[in-house]
Amino acid sequence: MAFPQPTLLLATSALLGICISPSCGGTQASENHIAVKLPGGQIPQFDEQRAMEDLRYLCEEIGPRRIGTLGGEKTRQWLQTQLSTLDGWQVEEDSFLAEPPLGARRRGEVQGVNLLAKLPGNQAGEIWICSHYDTFDTPGFVGANDGGSSTVVLLELARQWQSQTPRQGQTLVLAWFDGEEKFPPLEWDDFTNSTFGSRSLAERMEKDGSIRNISALILLDMVGDSQLGVLKETTSNSRLKRIMEQAASVLDDPNLFVGQRDIKDDHIHFRRRNVPAINLIDFNYGPANSYWHNQKDNLDHVSAKSLGRIGRLILTALPAVEQSFQPRKPSKRN
Ligand SMILES: [Zn+2]
Repeated sequence: MAFPQPTLLLATSALLGICISPSCGGTQASENHIAVKLPGGQIPQFDEQRAMEDLRYLCEEIGPRRIGTLGGEKTRQWLQTQLSTLDGWQVEEDSFLAEPPLGARRRGEVQGVNLLAKLPGNQAGEIWICSHYDTFDTPGFVGANDGGSSTVVLLELARQWQSQTPRQGQTLVLAWFDGEEKFPPLEWDDFTNSTFGSRSLAERMEKDGSIRNISALILLDMVGDSQLGVLKETTSNSRLKRIMEQAASVLDDPNLFVGQRDIKDDHIHFRRRNVPAINLIDFNYGPANSYWHNQKDNLDHVSAKSLGRIGRLILTALPAVEQSFQPRKPSKRN
């Protein structure tokens, strides 16, 4: 899901002062000079039909994927099976306990599991691409868009990025978070009733210092709407926003972005720990967002084309993200 804030700022694409011309050519990234180019001069390959077949499997064969349920476990097993056929990816599970707040329909502690896939690189730093795979707790909800779309985009990115290791560049990490959704009927709360998996992981990584290895984090959520219009989340890192805008431009897809809005989502727990982060989300799903969190979030209202637009955006943006963001140096311990 993702929790909307009340203010809606429809913004024009703020491209002032940024060079998007291929002739710019510079390799030194600065706040006002980031060159995004098509990788190898070509539109990157992203098999959107295969991603759509994955989404069909997720919705029709697995179905609801609430935290701590068999659907969630089946999803992880399926993702791990898919990843095991690819070169280079190292997969691990990250378990945590989520406690539904008093008054929630669910009672007692719930075991959640984040799934992480790493493709080690030969340079310092990690670029994280993230999604949540759990679904909202309401009867018959399969989350084709909310939870499903970004999950299958990450899987297809894993196929496209697979390589012998170490890859040339920073380490890539794909993170499928569990427990992003709140426990109903209670309202969303950033710290007690939502984002259980990302919050747990960010806390642990802050404690052991590994969060400083993350150079940048890109969160995808609700990216499958057949009428796709992506928000650049207001509080997201401004340089990441500009790179994404430029990537859409070089892909000749400038209408992909429709404005900005403050959205609470898995990225907040990394952002508040100073990780440069962006949330790419379409929060206008059906008329007046009426397909959100109900049975209308199904395969009829998502499209392969939208999955492809997002997949190619990330593939195109990655080199500029790697060039522009480096890991933070370890802090001195007293
Ligand atoms: Zn949701």
